Amino acid sequence: MRSDDFKQGSLFISDNGASKGVSRVLLTEQQVNARVQELGQTLTRDYSNREVVFLAVLKGALYFLTDLIRNVDLPLTVGVTSIERSLVDGEYNISSTIRDHSMIKGKHVVIVEDIVDTGHTIAALIKSVEEQSPTSIKVCTLLDKVSKREVEVPVDYLGFEIPPLFVVGYGLDYEEYYRNLPFIGVIEDASWDPVSELRAKSQKSNS
Ligand code: 5GP
Repeated sequence: MRSDDFKQGSLFISDNGASKGVSRVLLTEQQVNARVQELGQTLTRDYSNREVVFLAVLKGALYFLTDLIRNVDLPLTVGVTSIERSLVDGEYNISSTIRDHSMIKGKHVVIVEDIVDTGHTIAALIKSVEEQSPTSIKVCTLLDKVSKREVEVPVDYLGFEIPPLFVVGYGLDYEEYYRNLPFIGVIEDASWDPVSELRAKSQKSNS
């Protein structure tokens, strides 16, 4: 499904299987691709003559990462990290597992994220990257819901600032679906609320 084929106002459920459909396009494929290209050129300029590790957060940022690095003309390596969210004594806790962390020590690291919302995920990630003694850390995110921020985090490279909507596509999922959309679409009446999800899960397992 290309953004041009998307009929405004029509609910798109298609074969995706998710329980909610995409109601509109927020950013077209062309807008996303053009901005990713610009970001790649800016990174190339900013890190000229230096080697960079691009560290992507699984799974959503993989799509952005692969397009981004193809627009970066530098010697670079790629790493991935996964995020674990849990409730520890009722408190929301985020931890990250960096695979192959030996590649980070003494290197310039660019953390690649699909979206920053409250900022908790990036804050946890920066902390765990810092523990690996890199030379520098910068954050590059495709989308940022600035109005939802709960903790202050640096966003050094930004694709688009967006309103507080639930968005999918270009790696972002709803119930694991829609990652393959080449544009950013909106799902109305959906929200990103990991704390409530975790609470509901723990209540279920306790009952
Ligand atoms: P934060 O910790 O900043 O609140 O949340 C960042 C993470 O929340 C992202 O990596 C992503 O997994 C998820 N997220 C936040 N907003 C959205 C959204 O609108 N759509 C989707 N699919 N995921 C989101």
